[in-house]
Amino acid sequence: MTDYFVHESSYIDDNVEIGEETKIWHFSHILSGAKIGANCSLGQNVNVGNNVKIGDGCKIQNNVSIYEGVELENDVFCGPSMVFTNDLTPRAKYPKGRAKYQKTIVGRGASIGANATIVCGHTVGKYAMIAAGAVAVTDVPDYGLMAGVPAKQIGWVCECGAVLDINLSCKNCDRDYPFLKGI
Ligand SMILES: [Zn+2]
Repeated sequence: MTDYFVHESSYIDDNVEIGEETKIWHFSHILSGAKIGANCSLGQNVNVGNNVKIGDGCKIQNNVSIYEGVELENDVFCGPSMVFTNDLTPRAKYPKGRAKYQKTIVGRGASIGANATIVCGHTVGKYAMIAAGAVAVTDVPDYGLMAGVPAKQIGWVCECGAVLDINLSCKNCDRDYPFLKGI
């Protein structure tokens, strides 16, 4: 018995765990060893690599590949066609193998905009927001708002997604973030 949904056009390899109420839409492929939490949504043409861990409540938009070495904590949003990597210096002729894949961790509640790239070996902090088209080449602080190529921090973002004002307050939900400082 399954308590999740997989569209008939998608492939789920052996030895995969998928949580309750998760939905996997058209033309996607989940590779062996992957663990996907509950209440996730994976759009069209999503590839989840071997042994990848995805937490609960994640939303992965169309055309995203989550390669081995990447881990998503709970409630992560991956915008359409955003890109992960797992090798800083790839060569077709000299493959390094999985033992040398670089790790990338995306913290709880973080959002990655459409067409952004997260260069491997970095941590995206919890509730951080990466703007559309940005190329993140550094660690990203919790609640950090990053934009540009290469991505730089241009502000702070609330857990709810609104940009914080100069007093580190959210006008949308009244949360305050006095512990954040410096950019
Ligand atoms: Zn807020």
